[in-house]
Amino acid sequence: MSNEELWQNALSEIELNVSRASFATWFKDTCLADINNEGIVTISVPNGFAQEWLGNKYHKFILKSLRTIVPEIRSINYVINASLAKKQEVFEQKNKFKKDEAISSEEQLDFKDFHVDPKTNLNPKYTFDNFIVGSFNDLAYTAALAVIKNLGKAYNPLFIYGGSGLGKTHLLQAIGNSIKKESSQKKVNYMTAEKFSNELVSSIQAGSAHNFKEKYRDCDLLIVDDIQFFEKKIKTQEEFFHTFNTLYDAGKQVIFSSDRAPQSIIDIEERLRSRLQVGVIIDISAPDYETRLAIIKAKCNEKKIALDDKILEIIAGSVQRNIRELEGALNLIHMQSLYKNKIMTPEEAKLILSKNARPKTTVNASQIIKMISEFYDIPEKNMYEKTRKHEIVHPRQIAMYLIREDLSGSFPSIGQKFGGRDHTTAMHAYLKVKEGIKNNPKIEEEIKQIREKYYPK
Ligand code: ADP
Ligand code: MG
Repeated sequence: MSNEELWQNALSEIELNVSRASFATWFKDTCLADINNEGIVTISVPNGFAQEWLGNKYHKFILKSLRTIVPEIRSINYVINASLAKKQEVFEQKNKFKKDEAISSEEQLDFKDFHVDPKTNLNPKYTFDNFIVGSFNDLAYTAALAVIKNLGKAYNPLFIYGGSGLGKTHLLQAIGNSIKKESSQKKVNYMTAEKFSNELVSSIQAGSAHNFKEKYRDCDLLIVDDIQFFEKKIKTQEEFFHTFNTLYDAGKQVIFSSDRAPQSIIDIEERLRSRLQVGVIIDISAPDYETRLAIIKAKCNEKKIALDDKILEIIAGSVQRNIRELEGALNLIHMQSLYKNKIMTPEEAKLILSKNARPKTTVNASQIIKMISEFYDIPEKNMYEKTRKHEIVHPRQIAMYLIREDLSGSFPSIGQKFGGRDHTTAMHAYLKVKEGIKNNPKIEEEIKQIREKYYPK
C-alpha cells in the first residue's frame, strides 16, 4: 500500500468524525509524506494554522485512524510542506535516471469532498448506479424513481426515514444528481438541515435574511437532509415553514430525510410536522445478511478489491445495522491485507474485526428492566406499574432510555413493554434522560455504572 493510499483511507475514517467544513479546511492539501522504520509518520500540511489544528485538535483522531490500518504506527509529526521537500527529493533522485519522468510539485491529493458542486451541494459520487436495492430499501428506491419521473407531482413532499448509515443521504443525492443530469437547467438544492439552520442564523446576523429567503424559494427541487436537526430550533422552523409553503404552492418538489418518522420528531411545531406528513412517508430498514453480502460484493467490484468469499461472509456477519460501518469494515480488512502483503486467513479477519467492533450488548429488554430494578433496589414488578412516584419514575425512565439507546428498541414497543403506555411516554423518557446525561453528572455516572456492572464484557 502506498503512503497515498494509506492517507486516503485514514482520511475517509477521519471524515466521519469531523464536520464537513472542518474537514475541507484543515485536511485540504495534506498528505502522508513519510513513515520511517520506527513507526513515526510525517504528515505534510500546507501552513502553520493547519499544523496547529491538526497537531492539537485532531491529533487523536488522526493517530487512531492511522493505527486502525497500520497498528505499528507510534507517533506523528506535522511538518509544513514536507511533501514538497519529499517530492523534490524524489524528483531529483528520479531525474538522475529518467529525465522525462518529472513529477509536478502541484500534484495534489484529490479529495472526493471537493468535488461537491457548490451551486447544488451535490456530490457526484452518489448515484443510482452504485446504489444497491434490496427488500430493506426498495420502497424508498421506487418512490425516488417516481419523484424523478414526475417532479413536484408524484410524491410531494417525499419523506424518507431510517437509522444512521442506511443510505438516506446517498439516495437523496442520487435523486438530485439524476435530475441535474437529465435537465441541467433545473435548479436543485441539497441542504443538510444543520446547514440550513446555520446559514439562516448567520444571514440574520449579517442583516441579509432577504437573500437567504430568495435562495431557497427559487428552486425546482429542494432536498433537506436530517430534518430532525430542526428540533427545538423555533426560528429555523418558522423560516423553513414559509420556504416550504412557497415551494409547495408553486408545485416544486421537496424531499426530506430524518432518522425517525415525523411523529417521533418531538420538539417541532405542529404546523410544520403536518406539512412534513402531507406527502409520502417511507422508511428504510436494516439490510438482512444476504443483502449485506451483496452490498459488500458490489463494493469490492467497484473498488477492485479482491478478497476471499469466506472473508466477505465474515464481514457481512459482523456489522448488522449500518452500511457505512459495513464499508468501513471492508476497507479495514482490505487495507490490512494490503499492508501485510500476504493472503489473509478468515481467522485473522475475525480477529481484526472483533478488535475494532463496537461493544455489543447481548442483553434483552426484560433483562435490562431486571438489572435496573436491582440497581435502584426496587421490586421488579414496580417497574411496570402506572405510578408517578419519583423513586419508580426515575429508574423506569433510565430503563426506557437504555432499551432505546443500546437495543434500538422502537418507542411503541417500549411503551408496550411498560404496561401498555403510549409511545410518546417512552419518547419523553428517552429525551429526558438524554438531556439529564448532558446536564447532570450524577445521571451520567449512574448510566455508566449500570452498563459497567451488568452488561456482558
Ligand atoms: P445515512 O444518510 O442514512 O446515514 P448514507 O447515505 O450516508 O447513510 O450511507 C452511508 C454509506 O453507505 C455511504 O458511503 C453510502 O454510499 C453507502 N450506502 C448506503 N446505502 C447504500 C446502498 N443501498 N447501496 C450502496 N451503498 C450504500
Ligand atoms: Mg445522511
